[in-house]
Amino acid sequence: MSESSASVTGNILDVEKIRKDFPILSQTVRGKPLIYLDNAATTHKPISVIERVRKFDAEEYGTVRRGTYKLSEHATRLYEDARQKVADFMGAEKKGEIVFTSGTTQAINLVAHSFGKRFVSEGDEIIISNIEHHANTVPWQVLCEERGARLKVIPVDDDGELMMEEYEKILSPKTRMVAVNHVSNALGTINPIKEITQKAHAAGARVLIDGAQSTPHLKLNVQDIDCDFYTFSGHKMYGPSGIGGVYGKMDLWEEMPPYVTGGDMIMQVTLEKTTYAKPPARFEAGTPPITQVIGLDAAIDYLNEIGLDKIAEYENSLLEYGTRLFKEIEGVRIIGNARSKASIISFFSDSAHPHDMVHFLDQDGISCRGGHHCAQPTMIRYGVPATTRASMAFYNKPEELDALAESVQKCIRFFS
Ligand code: PMP
Repeated sequence: MSESSASVTGNILDVEKIRKDFPILSQTVRGKPLIYLDNAATTHKPISVIERVRKFDAEEYGTVRRGTYKLSEHATRLYEDARQKVADFMGAEKKGEIVFTSGTTQAINLVAHSFGKRFVSEGDEIIISNIEHHANTVPWQVLCEERGARLKVIPVDDDGELMMEEYEKILSPKTRMVAVNHVSNALGTINPIKEITQKAHAAGARVLIDGAQSTPHLKLNVQDIDCDFYTFSGHKMYGPSGIGGVYGKMDLWEEMPPYVTGGDMIMQVTLEKTTYAKPPARFEAGTPPITQVIGLDAAIDYLNEIGLDKIAEYENSLLEYGTRLFKEIEGVRIIGNARSKASIISFFSDSAHPHDMVHFLDQDGISCRGGHHCAQPTMIRYGVPATTRASMAFYNKPEELDALAESVQKCIRFFS
């Protein structure tokens, strides 16, 4: 099947124009035009982000919070403006509810450690799902080990959807935290996080949503979801690496102890005792990734300019097209067929191991991911060692999915 670009995606976005914003996309790989389909791992940066970072470092850089001279005051204002921008982007009520971290991994570790220390004791329970990234699995396992709590798991059906009736069965007055992703990085499933949150709250539990995969694709309002924490990673949102963060309800932040300690997170230090700053500073010890925050601010401007609604609509049309293509390929099984999915096609073929498959695809200039995607329990659930994953962004085109499907078929023939 090969349909024209326009018939697949209509006029939702001017993709050719958008692609010109991303310098890296015009390069060739092994003599072929680069086809970048590993956006769930990390996204490329538009020129506006690259330029903003360059200008900030060249002309505006200074430390934040401490200096009383012009450069430092300016950098501090930009840093706090970026916090407001993230708060608006996520629909948070107050900008102080946004804590910057290096990304989702550090954000979940922060919450698991700090919330756990304050609210989790022996005999309590934490719930995750069977389709979590290791970043939303291991910190809770460690917390449970440390505090004598129990980890419970929401099972997933054959299509990759969480089994909500099973979730209701494992929720109990002992549940302290329900931690699930909004979008699964291994399958693409969009989870019903509003319903998950309502049910958790009814049982007296708090909710953390791992938003690493959703923030680049779906319009977000944390107040509408009513979750207690929501994480994000800048490098998956067309921004710099090394920056991300977590939204948390202010009343919770206020009750939580620090995770990392040192400079900037204190109110007063004597040699005998330290008192802590109010959130968010309490959770941002040390000099933060200042330039990266400024880059994130520019990335959010870029996303807002295109519009998350349009992005979601465009990417959905790509996903539907790619899914149709892959369903026609003999010997390929799509892992993850949830009714509600975002931008990811994960697949497996008995003919070629995903690691061989991605090497093969690379020869055609196609960057895809083969592996367990830091979601080994998900792979175990579907009885596969790994999958090949094509993850799309709004700068991808239907023709690139045609090229992918063709290369996959070539690969299967080669290894059969
Ligand atoms: N959760 C999910 C669902 C992810 O996809 C990822 C990144 N692959 C993470 C957490 C971890 O994010 P980071 O590496 O940016 O900390």
